[in-house]
Amino acid sequence: MLILHDPQCADYGSSMRPEQPARVTKSVAYVRAAHPDWSWRVPSAVVTDETLLLAHTPAHLKRLTLARDFNADTPFFPAINEHARRAVAAALEAAQHALATRTPAFSLMRPPGHHATADQAMGFCYLNQTAIAALAAHHHFGATRVAVWDFDAHHGNGTEAILHAHAGAGPDAGVFFFASVHQFPAYPGTGAHDLGPHTRNWPVAPRTPRGAHLAALRASLDAVIAFAPDLILVSAGFDAYARDPITAMTLERDDFAVLGCWLRETHRPAAAVLEGGYSDDLPLLIDAFLTGWQNSPTPVA
Ligand SMILES: [Zn+2]
Repeated sequence: MLILHDPQCADYGSSMRPEQPARVTKSVAYVRAAHPDWSWRVPSAVVTDETLLLAHTPAHLKRLTLARDFNADTPFFPAINEHARRAVAAALEAAQHALATRTPAFSLMRPPGHHATADQAMGFCYLNQTAIAALAAHHHFGATRVAVWDFDAHHGNGTEAILHAHAGAGPDAGVFFFASVHQFPAYPGTGAHDLGPHTRNWPVAPRTPRGAHLAALRASLDAVIAFAPDLILVSAGFDAYARDPITAMTLERDDFAVLGCWLRETHRPAAAVLEGGYSDDLPLLIDAFLTGWQNSPTPVA
């Protein structure tokens, strides 16, 4: 297991908001102590505008440098542009590592990204590192087909919109797949239906029993596998946990371990990026997912 982490990602924000520095600092401490044999790396790459423009508009990159709040959920913070770029760098390195070694890589960074659209910061997200990594993997890292599996409790509207824009026509037609399992209705209000054969959504009603939620997750991963991707990028949010303060879902710690085991059993290069997850148990949930991903037994062929 390779963990991409830059301690600077805890240098902004407030403990008064759900998306706060302690999410990552506590998770880092827990995972480091639990797995002293895992590798850690500070992302070294400087992310260029050219790479960000794979997914975002020039106007959006400029907007991120202006000291004005984006909306109530998504304030401006000093140097948020640099913080968001570091999260992109970590996702890119995780994707490259997965493709090069076929071993797990996890970006343990903030801010999250899956709500950010081509031209808008929203839902605690400023740049969409998962969409950028998907596009970069296809255009620069040698992967032809790239799938995103988003199990955050909220719909990955930004990733969906960015990748779906490439889905229908042009040189990228048919090379990206997006699958999201999320609470519906809930923020941001999208994700009720599929947008096409490569843009799939599994809405799950609030308080759905965990077995039914897991069945939707299994179906979504089966769809990802059927797409035969060269790379699976996981938007790993942990806010579908039963005791998350901002959702009404029912998954338990063991369920996140199951998701990790399933990912391992795809036998495909995969990289995961931390998205949401706001309970005090976040370190345990991340650890369960990563441990399942790293250690699940390989089934007999
Ligand atoms: Zn979320």
